[in-house]
Amino acid sequence: MSNYDVVVIGSGPGGYVSAIRCAQLGMKTALVEKYDTLGGTCLNVGCIPSKALLDSSHHYEDTQKHLEEHGIEVQGPVTLNLAKMMERKSGVVSQTTKGIDFLMDKNKIDVLHGIGAFDDKNTLTVHGKEKQTLTAKHFIIATGSKPASLPFINIDKKRVITSTEALSMTEVPMHLVIIGGGVIGLELGQVYRRLGAEVSVVEYMDRIIPTMDGAQSKELTKVLKKQGVKFFLSHQVQGVSSDKNEVTVTALDKKGQEVQLTGDYCLVSVGRKPYIEGLGLDKAGVAVNERGQIQVNDHLQTNIAHIYAIGDVVRGAMLAHKAEEEGVMVAELIAGQKPHINYNLIPGVVYTWPEVASVGQTEEQLQASGVAYKTGQFPMRALGRSRASGDVDGFVKILSDAKTDELLGVHMVGARVADLIAEAVTAMEFRASAEDLARMSHAHPTYAEAVKEAALAATENRPLHI
Ligand code: FAD
Ligand code: NAD
Repeated sequence: MSNYDVVVIGSGPGGYVSAIRCAQLGMKTALVEKYDTLGGTCLNVGCIPSKALLDSSHHYEDTQKHLEEHGIEVQGPVTLNLAKMMERKSGVVSQTTKGIDFLMDKNKIDVLHGIGAFDDKNTLTVHGKEKQTLTAKHFIIATGSKPASLPFINIDKKRVITSTEALSMTEVPMHLVIIGGGVIGLELGQVYRRLGAEVSVVEYMDRIIPTMDGAQSKELTKVLKKQGVKFFLSHQVQGVSSDKNEVTVTALDKKGQEVQLTGDYCLVSVGRKPYIEGLGLDKAGVAVNERGQIQVNDHLQTNIAHIYAIGDVVRGAMLAHKAEEEGVMVAELIAGQKPHINYNLIPGVVYTWPEVASVGQTEEQLQASGVAYKTGQFPMRALGRSRASGDVDGFVKILSDAKTDELLGVHMVGARVADLIAEAVTAMEFRASAEDLARMSHAHPTYAEAVKEAALAATENRPLHI
């Protein structure tokens, strides 16, 4: 039996980062992972492979459609080698996961492969090639999430698939029907649209990315429609049937009329659910809420004080950087420090092109809570930088307090806004006003100038370039 200060269960961005921080703080730490590779959903079947395919498919589309306008002529047809694109993606994943092995070694963290299951609140057995029993002063559960589905859908992983299968296709679908117009549906939908598939998105709500600002939904819908994606909004899916070659999705539209969409693949992307199977939570006495999430207090402690839980398996946004912050916070709490996470300032990004990025309150949230606010918006089209690259879609929208001018929300659509949002997060962490942003020098020509201009518009309605 081995004894540790901390045992972390799950090696995703929550778990491995937490293990590193525990080790940095001098704790004897073990990391338990059921799969052979470290990195969890994010590195293996999430953030990293999806971004690799988004980048590759973007190059393909540019070569096919946009190089000519730059005066670059391609002789002969541009052809797709999907197997090679997937091989590159797998290479990126394996390089990245090996990087985590290196970090575990560097920080002298013991890595144990196998399913971790509590025997009681102080003991965990790792069911791997051999059984290993561990005791620890503290446990951190970071077991993440897996795809959710609808009760009447049978995910056969052949025709009816989740993001995991969609990241390793052996052919480009002729017609990909996507249930759920959220982050996964739109990112992967754009990948296969670029590669030549017909793509139809069936969404229950009246807009895509429904948790983001309404202006972002509108702009992204417009751009994706231009790219050929078809949307079936306010549609209630009733059933999905499939045979060897085909899948049919039946839905009711706003008027209650039945709509049938037949394709060769159906991607189900209606959210994810916490992953707690096989963990033995009952044996440890750890409580779970009605949504299947491990219940935690503000310090991410479960009802069993020395067992913590972080990341997708607890409440809040299912994002890698949220899981990482929580992993660091718990390590520091165990070490007796007083860390804090500002959940309102965890940015959200959709890596379509144009990208979509947000931080703080949306206009809909401010309206619902009755806060008086000002708005400033600036179109990317008006920037020299956007015209130079040809990326003219999108805008930056700034919401600030009507009285104090404090930034309340920043919402963007456009080229590289996934990176631009960091400026807004920094400003809001320091409780800056829109005027603070408006008076800072922004390099010219950059996409970031849209942030300054939107801030000028929010402050005194005096943008310079429109
Ligand atoms: P996970 O990454 O899910 O890791 C949990 C780990 O625990 C897994 O490795 C699992 O095998 C292991 N485990 C579970 N049970 C046990 C057990 N009993 N014993 C041992 N090990 C166990 N987020 C972003 O911020 N940006 C993105 O661009 C992004 N893109 C995404 C794209 C896709 C297609 C998907 C599916 C998700 C994406 N996400 C993205 C979400 C992100 O992947 C998750 O929020 C993040 O991985 C959560 O981290 P985690 O550490 O909580 O759990
Ligand atoms: P999501 O919550 O982003 O989107 C699910 C969508 O499905 C929503 O628009 C919802 O209204 C819709 N929906 C729900 N039930 C439906 C039904 N019965 N019929 C039709 N539509 C329905 O979930 P996701 O796209 O599956 O992604 C899962 C998680 O992974 C998200 O929480 C997200 O944070 C994370 N993720 C993040 C990124 C990123 O940060 N770029 C990328 C991919 C995934």
